[in-house]
Amino acid sequence: SAAAEDWDVTASKAPVEVKLTKLLIDGELVDAASGKTFPTVDPRTEEVIAQVAEGDEEDVNRAVRAARKAFDEGPWPKMPASQRGEILFKYADLLEQHTEELAALETLDSGKIYEQVRYTELPLFYKHFRYYAGWADKIYGQTIPADGPYMQYTLHEPIGVVGQIIPWNFPLVMFCWKVAPALAAGNCVVLKTAEQTPLSAILAGKLALEAGIPPGVLNIISGFGPTAGAAIANHMDIDKVAFTGSTEVGKLVMASAARSNLKQVTLELGGKSPVIICANADVDKAVELSHSALFFNQGQCCAAGSRTFVHESHYEEFVEKSKARALQRVVGDPFKAGVHHGPQVDKNQFEKILEYISHGEQQGAKLLTGGARFGTKGFYIKPTVFSDVNDDMKIFTEEIFGPVQSISKFKTLEEVVRRANNTTYGLAAGVFTRDLDIANTVSRGLRAGTVWINCYNNFDATMPFGGYKQSGIGREKGSYALENYTQVKAVVTPLHDAAW
Ligand code: NAD
Repeated sequence: SAAAEDWDVTASKAPVEVKLTKLLIDGELVDAASGKTFPTVDPRTEEVIAQVAEGDEEDVNRAVRAARKAFDEGPWPKMPASQRGEILFKYADLLEQHTEELAALETLDSGKIYEQVRYTELPLFYKHFRYYAGWADKIYGQTIPADGPYMQYTLHEPIGVVGQIIPWNFPLVMFCWKVAPALAAGNCVVLKTAEQTPLSAILAGKLALEAGIPPGVLNIISGFGPTAGAAIANHMDIDKVAFTGSTEVGKLVMASAARSNLKQVTLELGGKSPVIICANADVDKAVELSHSALFFNQGQCCAAGSRTFVHESHYEEFVEKSKARALQRVVGDPFKAGVHHGPQVDKNQFEKILEYISHGEQQGAKLLTGGARFGTKGFYIKPTVFSDVNDDMKIFTEEIFGPVQSISKFKTLEEVVRRANNTTYGLAAGVFTRDLDIANTVSRGLRAGTVWINCYNNFDATMPFGGYKQSGIGREKGSYALENYTQVKAVVTPLHDAAW
């Protein structure tokens, strides 16, 4: 890679002081009931950043009691919807005023590129709160003609106490995808952050109180999956659970929901998204976009374009250019300007990815560049490109969640659509072509929740996002997400005979 491997991450002191490490329950920042804490680690240096309160079942119970009280007695679901919207607009403003601190905490905790967080993700974060703030007083039902002397209408009501479990790859973006529609619709929330990245959400939670979101409406638990996460999924007094993470854990969450109180479930899970470069595509543009489709965020994206299918007519050119592009990717301290590629989030992910790389080599894929650790400290992996990948290789079937691009050749459109769909996942897909008919035909053929044509990784607040097949249930973002956080009440009342 372009950067020298002798850079010193310890020389770059994080431009932020960690002040908040507690749980947010009922409007108060509190220690865990057990008094326990856990370390959160800087992926650049492998050193402990801070000890954070470790919430478990007892803390989830406390948070659910607070959320239930806020929902049953509090003003939140009952106040004029426009007022809820006003508070959420104010919340977005307040978050925006804390941009530098939020961005620095996010990079410190996750290893994400600071400029990416600061200039791409945080603007989206505020935008989501504003988008759903605008929805607050536009959530309503229908008046429906009856087959008889009746007045019929529907109400779209909040579900109640909502449990939300989020991952570490986009801590604040996942926070807004979950929290903003839930609150706009009048629900009360118990959110569990990922154990790798608890810090930024605690600040976001504290600012919610300052914005005027009443105590108990938004509770935030730092802690681990099998304890705090499972307590949410199993809880008898949580009405709905929304989860983002691995398909494996998504299945556990759904089973727990079924076994406990049949709480409603939405899931946003993994992917193995195909990127298809057709015969008449603009090759340079396709190289650039399929590079970022995979390497964005160190490959730690549920929608990562992790199966690159290239038409045989320009396969060799595409492969050479993709290798050259990966070599230009500057690896290093994510706080430094001009760096494109930081460390993976933690040791588990780092080791798992290196294992996938050796599988790729053992199974006969051609390693063009990368394939190893970068430097000697931190969880850095060199941008890695494999060509000549076959459909049955592990690197082409399983979600790697790392900086490993896998390129394969195809001959016909029928073939590539069949191969692209030959996966248990169905989250996203990319198609590169200059031919409108091909773009439309291939888009229809792909079984995926999102299709990007001649672009990739566009995440506008207004568009639904979610999975076909084992990539999930339900849609986040856009007006569709409101369906996850409302339930429909049918109301019927007789009309006086004369009126009928
Ligand atoms: P994970 O599914 O274990 O973790 C996601 C969230 O679920 C975290 O908050 C975690 O604490 C929680 N969790 C874990 N076990 C739980 C349980 N039994 N009950 C309730 N909640 C639980 O994911 P991971 O271990 O961090 O990463 C593993 C793989 O998952 C990655 O390599 C990647 O393939 C995938 N992943 C996908 C996404 C996504 O955006 N879809 C995000 C992160 C990870």
